[in-house]
Amino acid sequence: MKKSIYLALSALFFLGALGLSSCSPTEKDYSKNDIVARDVDTTINPGDDFFMYANGGWIKKNPIPAAYSSWGIGNLVTEEIRDKLKTINEEAVKEKAAKGTNSQKIGDFYSSGMDSVAIDKKGLTALQPQIDSIQNIKTKDDVIRVAAYLTTIGADNALGPYIAQDDKNSSKMMLQLFQTGLGLPNRDYYFNTDSRTVGIRNDYQSKHLPTLFTLAGADENLAKKEADGVYQLEAFLAKNSRKLEDLRDPYANYHKMPIGALDQLTPDIKWQPLLKIMHFEKADSVIVGQPEYYQAVNTALSKFPVDTWKAYLKANLISSYASFLSKPIDDENFRFYGTVLSGRTAQLPRWKRIIDAENRYMGEILGQLFVKEYFPEKTKKRYSDLVEAIRTSLKDHINHLEWMTAETKAKALEKLNALNKKVGYPDQWRDYSTLEITPDNFAANVMSARVWAFNRNADKLGKPVDRNEWNMNPQTYNAYYNPSNNEIVLPAAIFTIPGVPDEDADDAIVYGYAAASTIGHEITHGFDDQGRQYDAKGNLKGWWTPKDSIAFTERAQKLVDQFNSYVVLDSLHVNGKATLGENIADLGGIVLGLDAFKKTEQYKEGKKINGFTPLQRYFLGYAMGWLGHERDQALANQILTDVHSPAFLRVNGPFTDVDDFYKAFDVKPGDKMYLAPDKRVKIW
Ligand SMILES: [Zn+2]
Repeated sequence: MKKSIYLALSALFFLGALGLSSCSPTEKDYSKNDIVARDVDTTINPGDDFFMYANGGWIKKNPIPAAYSSWGIGNLVTEEIRDKLKTINEEAVKEKAAKGTNSQKIGDFYSSGMDSVAIDKKGLTALQPQIDSIQNIKTKDDVIRVAAYLTTIGADNALGPYIAQDDKNSSKMMLQLFQTGLGLPNRDYYFNTDSRTVGIRNDYQSKHLPTLFTLAGADENLAKKEADGVYQLEAFLAKNSRKLEDLRDPYANYHKMPIGALDQLTPDIKWQPLLKIMHFEKADSVIVGQPEYYQAVNTALSKFPVDTWKAYLKANLISSYASFLSKPIDDENFRFYGTVLSGRTAQLPRWKRIIDAENRYMGEILGQLFVKEYFPEKTKKRYSDLVEAIRTSLKDHINHLEWMTAETKAKALEKLNALNKKVGYPDQWRDYSTLEITPDNFAANVMSARVWAFNRNADKLGKPVDRNEWNMNPQTYNAYYNPSNNEIVLPAAIFTIPGVPDEDADDAIVYGYAAASTIGHEITHGFDDQGRQYDAKGNLKGWWTPKDSIAFTERAQKLVDQFNSYVVLDSLHVNGKATLGENIADLGGIVLGLDAFKKTEQYKEGKKINGFTPLQRYFLGYAMGWLGHERDQALANQILTDVHSPAFLRVNGPFTDVDDFYKAFDVKPGDKMYLAPDKRVKIW
């Protein structure tokens, strides 16, 4: 994925005006609305901190608003889009369209979400049937059955099942089980000893969980007892959960077995009845990501009292619906997850939160309304062409690699040729006709949408793989590579430059911003430490000679070491191993985009704009893709949970490895970003 923060929002509005610059640079004056020159902070030496040199001017003028944990280019795009979505939703509310139409669904979802009086009045009774089912639990068999049911309504707990392509046979949909079940963002939060993390887990155990149980009706003593039990149960699951970097090895996280073998792995859990509850009864086998985690769940069923499990399931249920419930519950959920974990001091306005939820649950309804107007065929073609320019660039690079044998090169080229591109929006829209939305019960609408999504996923079992499907909305400011389909998926919104119509963006900016930081980045994912293990057909299957594998790993290790050396906050280090795939993709994107840019007229002419050469503007355009800043709390959270490096290092890290960067900004020994030529990492 491109972005560090998944923005489940929507975008598309500037795109009518967007597209690649196609006119000759000599015909156009780009100096007027020059987004890259505008943000430069000339008090900073570009060779010391290029990120702040390129973006510092903007950052100084644009503090992070209270309701956000970070603020930057993705937010600017997203905010404008959300404003447009608001209008669409308000019109749908007024229209009162016929029941079952897409317009009725978004209109009713929006108005039920805006009715805070009704939401407050319902309080937790919105979840009464589910709470009752937890209260009625008597045995550990009941525990696991109710856990399976809660999974189907999106109240995630210790079970993490889903249907997805078999890593080793990409044409088959398989039941998979992955580690999950923690209330804190990941396992490290239960064990790290730095004061920041200790403070967070103390708050979670001694304040957040007890408050949640009090709001659910427990007295002070019971609330404390339940909170302590839940914390101990989660800490046990955390102890048996893998670290972020250990989840990146696809072979180590692949254990295919018949359901009978799963029963043996977890003797206290009878899976067939559970699979029936979750609509997976057709499964005869399963891929277990982390067997030791499921053994721990099995052990925990006896190790912890049934009452502790009941409290655990209740906490998960309430937490997962908290932002759709009454104010006291919503407020406490925000206090912990918004403020303590992310540093935000205010909630987003209600309407923004509803639109975010709508994007999550009915994203393609909104998406299709917008692409019609804002992403015309010619724009789609321009970006499709840019993908091909990057494909050609990588082809040249592979052919010229010094460290790879001809045998592996042939396979790499085969994979590159087979790589599928999805640009802008899906060819076929998701059919929401069976989704029920009503005008008067927000939590019930969310539950209905979650059940619908769960069943839609379950229904894929045993069916052919739908390779046309998108896992991101066209209006989302993000992009991804999917190894099982060997495809890059580039939502229309990711190409948006906020406030700058296409005719004001020169090729240098567009190649840095779109071709390098998005397209080149995603294509390189097919060849990063993880992606390279999948073949042209998307199967996890070796196609590298041992010698080439070793040569790749040696180069990759240099990048691991480089990023391990970055300290970002207090004593927090970037996790070089966990972020390796993203760092390889960033470095690949930059060098591939650069070579494609070198073929443009603008590069060849070499004319300066606002004092910057085309080469300089290319690097500034790339840095603009990471324009922004984030709160310390969010940064600390990112280091522990995210496979992406912090934004400033997605610029400053890979730039130190690129020779043209030194040339462009005259970076010399003594500058902070200077790396001796033999220390610079070259992979693709
Ligand atoms: Zn990525």
